Amino acid sequence: MSGAVSGLLAPSALLPTGWHPDVEICWGPDGMLESVTPNVPDSPHPTAAGPVIPGMPNLHSHAFQRALLGRVQHPGPGGDFWSWRNEMYSAVQALTPELLYQVSAWTYSLMLAAGYTSVVEFHYVHRLGGASPSRSLEAMMAAARDTGIRQTMAPVLYRFAGSDGTALSERQRAFELDHAEFADLVTQIGEAGTTVAIAPHSLRAVQPDDLHFLVDLVGADTPVHIHVSEQPAEVAEIRKNLGDTPIAWLNREFGLSPRWALVHATQATPAELDLIDDGVATLVLCPTTEHDLGDGRFPIERTPGASWGVGSDSQVSVSPAEELRLLLYGQPAARGKRAVLSSTEHSDGSSLWQRATQGASAVTGSPVGRIAPGHAADLMVLDGARPDFTGLTADHLLSAWVLSGHARQIAEVRVGGDVVAQH
Ligand SMILES: [Zn+2]
Repeated sequence: MSGAVSGLLAPSALLPTGWHPDVEICWGPDGMLESVTPNVPDSPHPTAAGPVIPGMPNLHSHAFQRALLGRVQHPGPGGDFWSWRNEMYSAVQALTPELLYQVSAWTYSLMLAAGYTSVVEFHYVHRLGGASPSRSLEAMMAAARDTGIRQTMAPVLYRFAGSDGTALSERQRAFELDHAEFADLVTQIGEAGTTVAIAPHSLRAVQPDDLHFLVDLVGADTPVHIHVSEQPAEVAEIRKNLGDTPIAWLNREFGLSPRWALVHATQATPAELDLIDDGVATLVLCPTTEHDLGDGRFPIERTPGASWGVGSDSQVSVSPAEELRLLLYGQPAARGKRAVLSSTEHSDGSSLWQRATQGASAVTGSPVGRIAPGHAADLMVLDGARPDFTGLTADHLLSAWVLSGHARQIAEVRVGGDVVAQH
């Protein structure tokens, strides 16, 4: 972690209580924030180049899928999620642990440059090029260590091709683990000092007894990530085989809580939307991927009480600002009105950034997403000197950046106090 530099003076900073001026932000040698003090006009620490905001936790990543970019944007007539999946399977056949490391390190570098400071890696490509699951896992953890992004490793249990217990196809064998192999990966993650989450792939790919095995394997606070309700065909299959829709079934069987990350709740029923609005679990939205794959649009305006964050998922976009932009623009387009997500306290982009960062910590297993003592010094500094930002308050500047900006308008990104990207 940092040596000489142990603090920053922010001309303005987005804290859990909103924007504050002249904020002195100090962290210890462990990279954790020790004090955050507004209204400090003089500080021995360097002055940041613009507003300081929490770095964005990326709640859902398959880093290797960046290698598909440009190769899967030609779906042809009738192309859909399932035809995209076939292309993804073909790419997996060509991967080795070494290639997995290279593409993942590249993707993580892009994430840091764009303002993501941590990532939950939903890791399911276990058997590559004849190598053991341990080798692929090590490649993914090394990619995070070498680039400096904070990683929560979520090994995926993927055992069946359907919720009726259909065996995996030949092309899905790279994803297969048994219970003992899964437990070994969890041990390997702990020994590496990496934060662990568990990830039943979906209710298509595991049976109820697999889910009970996973939940019993780890502590009661360990995050659980699951692809939950991405496709109408998937929801129909779960209803047929388990007797209920996915989110309702999970809540009845396990009792959902904020540590449950519901990835792609796109097809949630009205009753499930009510559960989400009550904050029963954490919603993980991946708007660019969900639009690219034709999944649909999650009706965020229907769940104002939801706790949520974003993920770059298939890496068609690696930019938290672009995820929030699409999330916001989906609402007026669907309803013929502006200001459908407006907050009385902040402007649109600012408000979305605050919501997405603050909703994250329950499903990352580490204290991220807030500039507050006891949280990680994972920070992003916007370049206040850019002409686009002239004359704007910090609140309006962040909105301008979220809605029209790009990575080069970020002055620097820090993880645990260390500078990991600069523009
Ligand atoms: Zn996914």
